[in-house]
Amino acid sequence: MSAIDALTAELSRLPGIGPKTALRMVHNLLKGPRDDVHRLSRALTELAQRVRPCQQCGNFSEEPDCEICSNPRRDPSILCVVEEAFEVGAIERTGQFRGRYHVLGGHLSPLDGIGPEELNVGTLLERTSQERGEVAEVIIATNASVEGEATAVYLENVLRPRGIKVTRLARGIPVGSDLEYVDGTTIAEALAGRREM
Ligand SMILES: [Zn+2]
Repeated sequence: MSAIDALTAELSRLPGIGPKTALRMVHNLLKGPRDDVHRLSRALTELAQRVRPCQQCGNFSEEPDCEICSNPRRDPSILCVVEEAFEVGAIERTGQFRGRYHVLGGHLSPLDGIGPEELNVGTLLERTSQERGEVAEVIIATNASVEGEATAVYLENVLRPRGIKVTRLARGIPVGSDLEYVDGTTIAEALAGRREM
């Protein structure tokens, strides 16, 4: 395979990028300064070498524990569960949440073969165990899609028997929309108006 074909194939595996777009990106790289291509290459290598999921919450981090999990000023008794790591940033930008997070890495989707085992649920169960007794409330901030709701109901069923208060973000977040695209005020209102499931 030629170098152009190889990079085109890799880029077209990214979400939202088809083979045509990928090929156009490769040609743009080739037309520009060689230094830009080397910088991109180095950035990718550093990403692969330095970033891993936080061992507590699953958020991406360059340390074993992410900045939020290792910050003693963040309240460990309240966890906000999100589907994807980039959604942590969306909630952080509101400045309204002082607890910690848990990143599932997706949502339940039986048709695609994604059950609890495929998600970061095991560590959530460890963090919320009665022996550890650390977590009093879990806010479920999965998306307002069918899969996000099903995931919320599943988590409620496993967490509530542990004596944990399980809340869901208030409505106001448009159905089917990722937190990433919702403005900060709406997220802050949904957090403040969260209701017990
Ligand atoms: Zn963490």
